[in-house]
This record gives sequence, structure tokens and C-alpha cells, in this order.
Amino acid sequence: MSTTGRISVTAENIFPIIKKFLYSDHEIFLRELISNAVDATTKLKTLASIGEFKGELGDLTIQVKIDSNKKTITISDRGVGMTADEIRRYINEVAFSGAEEFVNKYKDKAGDAGIIGHFGLGFYSAFMVADKVEIYTKSWTQSPEEEGTHWECTGSPDFVMKPTPRTDRGTDIVLHISDDSTEFLEDYRIRDLLKKYCRFLPVPIQFGTKEI
Ligand code: ADP
Ligand code: MG
Repeated sequence: MSTTGRISVTAENIFPIIKKFLYSDHEIFLRELISNAVDATTKLKTLASIGEFKGELGDLTIQVKIDSNKKTITISDRGVGMTADEIRRYINEVAFSGAEEFVNKYKDKAGDAGIIGHFGLGFYSAFMVADKVEIYTKSWTQSPEEEGTHWECTGSPDFVMKPTPRTDRGTDIVLHISDDSTEFLEDYRIRDLLKKYCRFLPVPIQFGTKEI
């Protein structure tokens, strides 16, 4: 007699694996989060070029900031942002890629548009260096009066999601760096990583007050 079934995955068991083994090099988290910020910006530029986004693009520079007192690194972009619904789909579902979905939706009008993301795992590499990750975001589709969304997760893997006041579109990712990763709170370390991974990207990146 044979049986068939579907293999299931429990998030509690996956988180420690992501933390330890997603990449052997923990420093990769920065490349992953910057590439998401670049993708979000590229998507907005693509939507503008095909006439779907009609507002002001404004300054699209991606900002990276360290707060050594709060022990945080913040990566901010002025790209497409996310609605609460998109967070549910793209963030709360591990390994579901919004990059892939975007490319499929617009491939006739805009080719692959140079989107980097693919597997829908990169965001979670943040938990290799952070014991808490926050997202503050607002989508380009939301009106100025509408609230943005705040998402917070300590990798337990429960998350809290709630509306937050926010006027401008885009996303801030705040990493609360864990005690065994404090090397990433050093300016020189982040500057070197940005030089290593982020030099030839299609969007300007600013660290502190200097452009990379
Ligand atoms: P991938 O980039 O391979 O799709 P990730 O795990 O890195 O997978 O990200 C999952 C999805 O979350 C992205 O595809 C995108 O839809 C959304 N996302 C992540 N970061 C951002 C961001 N800064 N702005 C807008 N959407 C984002
Ligand atoms: Mg990605």
C-alpha cells in the first residue's frame, strides 16, 4: 500500500536554520537588504516609465545609517513601498518572491526591468545579524492621508503588524543588531561592505552623509 502526502515546514524550525546557514557569510545581509531597496526603486522607475506611476519620483537615494546608541542599522529607500497586504504576501510568507511576481506581471511592457530578487529569502538574512527587525513602509498606491504599516519580528517567529503614521512612500528596514554581531555597528565595517557589494548599482547609496 502506498501513501502520498505533502511535506510540511514549521517556521519555528526554519528560523534557526536561516540564522545559521542561509549564507555562510553573515555580512551578506547588507547586500540582500540593499538589493531589495534597489529593486523597490527600480520597480517605481519602471512603473513611471510605462505611465502607471504619475507622481514625482524625487530623490531616490538609498540611505544607510548606524545608530550606535540604539544598536541599529537602518536601510531606507524611496521605492514602491508595501501595503499591509503586500507585507502579508511577500514578507509573512517565507520564500514567496514579490520580485518574481513583478517581473512576470510587467515582462511584456518592461522586460525583466533589471530586478535582482528571485527566491524570496533574502529579507530573512537580516536575522543572521539582528534579533529584532522592523519594517516601516508605505506603498506608492496609498494616498497621503492613509497610514503606512509597521511590522516587527523578533524571529520567534511571531510578528506584530499595525498601522503607523507616515506621509512619504518607501521603506525603512531597522535591524536591532544582536550582541554577537556588534562588528556591524562599526562605520568602517559597513563602509567596506558597501564598497564590496554595492558599487555598481543603478541607484545612488548614501552612508551617513557620504555617497558610496
Ligand atoms: P526576493 O528579493 O528574492 O523577492 P526577499 O526575501 O529579499 O526576496 O524579499 C521578499 C519580497 O518582499 C520582495 O520580493 C518584495 O516584494 C518585498 N520587499 C522586500 N524589501 C522591500 C523593500 N525595501 N521595498 C518594497 N518591497 C520589499
Ligand atoms: Mg531580495
